[in-house]
Amino acid sequence: MDPREEIRKLTAELNEHSYRYYVQDAPTISDFEYDAKYRHLEELEAAYPDFALPDSPTKRVGGEAISGFDPVEHQVPLESLTDVFSEEELLAFHERMEQSLEKPLFTVEPKIDGLSMALIYENGVFVKGATRGDGKVGEDVTENLKTIRTIPLTIPDPPELLIVRGEVYMPKKAFEDLNERCELNGEKPFANPRNAAAGTMRQKDPKKVSSRHLDILIFNVQAVRGITFTTHAESLEYLKSKRFKVIPYLLAGDRESALAEVRRIGEERENYDFAIDGAVVKLNDLSDRERLGSTAKAPRWAVAYKYPPEKKETVVRDIVVQVGRTGVLTPKAVLDPVRLAGTTVGFATLHNQDVIDGLDLRVGDTVLVQKAGEIIPEILSVNKDKRPAGTVPYKLPERCPVCGSPVARDEDGAFIRCTGAECPAQQLRNVIHFASKNAMDIDGLGESLAQSLLSSGLIATVADLYSLEAEKVAELERMGKKSAANLIASIEKSKSAGMARLLFALGIRQVGEAAGRVLARRFGSVEALEKASLEELTAVNDVGETTARYILDWFSNPQSQHLLSRLREAGVSFASNEEPVGDRFSGMTFVLTGGLDSMSRDEAKARIEALGGKVSSSVSKKTSLVVAGESAGSKLTKAQELGVRIIDEAAFLELLG
Ligand SMILES: [Zn+2]
Repeated sequence: MDPREEIRKLTAELNEHSYRYYVQDAPTISDFEYDAKYRHLEELEAAYPDFALPDSPTKRVGGEAISGFDPVEHQVPLESLTDVFSEEELLAFHERMEQSLEKPLFTVEPKIDGLSMALIYENGVFVKGATRGDGKVGEDVTENLKTIRTIPLTIPDPPELLIVRGEVYMPKKAFEDLNERCELNGEKPFANPRNAAAGTMRQKDPKKVSSRHLDILIFNVQAVRGITFTTHAESLEYLKSKRFKVIPYLLAGDRESALAEVRRIGEERENYDFAIDGAVVKLNDLSDRERLGSTAKAPRWAVAYKYPPEKKETVVRDIVVQVGRTGVLTPKAVLDPVRLAGTTVGFATLHNQDVIDGLDLRVGDTVLVQKAGEIIPEILSVNKDKRPAGTVPYKLPERCPVCGSPVARDEDGAFIRCTGAECPAQQLRNVIHFASKNAMDIDGLGESLAQSLLSSGLIATVADLYSLEAEKVAELERMGKKSAANLIASIEKSKSAGMARLLFALGIRQVGEAAGRVLARRFGSVEALEKASLEELTAVNDVGETTARYILDWFSNPQSQHLLSRLREAGVSFASNEEPVGDRFSGMTFVLTGGLDSMSRDEAKARIEALGGKVSSSVSKKTSLVVAGESAGSKLTKAQELGVRIIDEAAFLELLG
């Protein structure tokens, strides 16, 4: 087939399947077939880039990160709605409408707790998308919006101009997955799906946005050229025919049926795959809307009904403790099941000991539970009048419920953590961290392989990596002989990673890459470090008392000793490969900016540190020297302003000697 024709056909076919999958939720081919066609299109487009179409599915994730979000003036303002908080206020709205209009009809839609966006289509092509901003001026987030599969890149039989408004949201499932990933990476989880969606839209790398699985529901035609609608419902049906994912709405009719729909949405609100914070009641007739117009703040023809968070009393039967992947102990209240906002609730999160103490919560207590947008409900208060006799205050256990290690409270927070180096609850994270690039640098050992090594029982702790057999690894899903052999070779190589990397890889609290290097230089071997006293540790540049105590505690834990002896038996080097610390740069702080020809930035950093210097990421008055390489940016300007000495690469090399 003619490649141009084949590209055209494949593009249309893939877009059709994508529409069926994402918008209609009714796929007709398997993911595997889709992927195969997608890859074929990618290959064709690479061979014939001129034939690639603007709505090609390969165009959804742009190659390059973007530098910022330009302001966009909205052609039609994105107004906000008047909130009403009770059925009486809603009735008053309906009565106002009935006074000014004859037999007004209403539509009702759930109000998604997301981010409002305007999407602009010119001659059927999605050309620009912008955030709401202040309603008049928003930010250009076109590249990020393109990653949302339910946004059509082109629309059939298009009008010359079409501007639609929709709400971008993170589906609850995607939100839970994202937070799980945050936990695994030791990052702070997002408070709710809205924050997660907002944080994602502000990402400058569309690839990252794409991986977060945002979605959108369209709920309004902001502007259209060449077509006139008479009702809101008609315009939404039009958008459906143009393949948009449109908000589930009901043309409710009169005020009684509108109220019934508002109540129904409220009762079932937890069952949507998106978080909602209300229901929107709008006039259906567009000429009526025009007649009524807007106040300075909001349109007169619509209101947003806000559901009060639902609260109910129930009894706490037990408090159970889960150990997260970073070792954090999280208490959960086991409740007598209670119906809240359409779902049955059997657990409430208690976050940490401070929350339990603040509530004075005890097993057996009757509590008030609330669910308001978040995934897991919360306990608001304890009804002490109903407290049975004989209850006792609850304290989190002093030993990890999974592995029995002592727990320790974070020095800077409310969290309590298991200190076991071999705690099964933490192994997935430990393995991923141990293998990561800046730790033992075991190529190919990422999250999914770590997961299958652990779940298949081939390893239980990182020490088991060193006795893995290639044949067994090759049998794992998505592995083969070649990748298994590569993995084993990479594991073998990691034995000589050296003490600095090993210390970082072991995940001792507060011992990062820099501390690992400093300790390796000072002590030369793990054995020597183990014998060091508190005084000897704190005497090391950059090691404070907290870190020193973490190190001592870590070595004193039997699980750590067990892990170390197994690593030693496996032949992992405990000796430092680092140059012993020099003192030429002692007391000096460097800032690196721009690229260097002769070495990578990591290498430059290592060389500075080997001579006793420090590397900082930002320029301040304390900076001794700025090393400015190729295309140095704002740090250079800052250095000039502060009068900090700047040297080029040649001078830097000379200084290193
Ligand atoms: Zn544990």
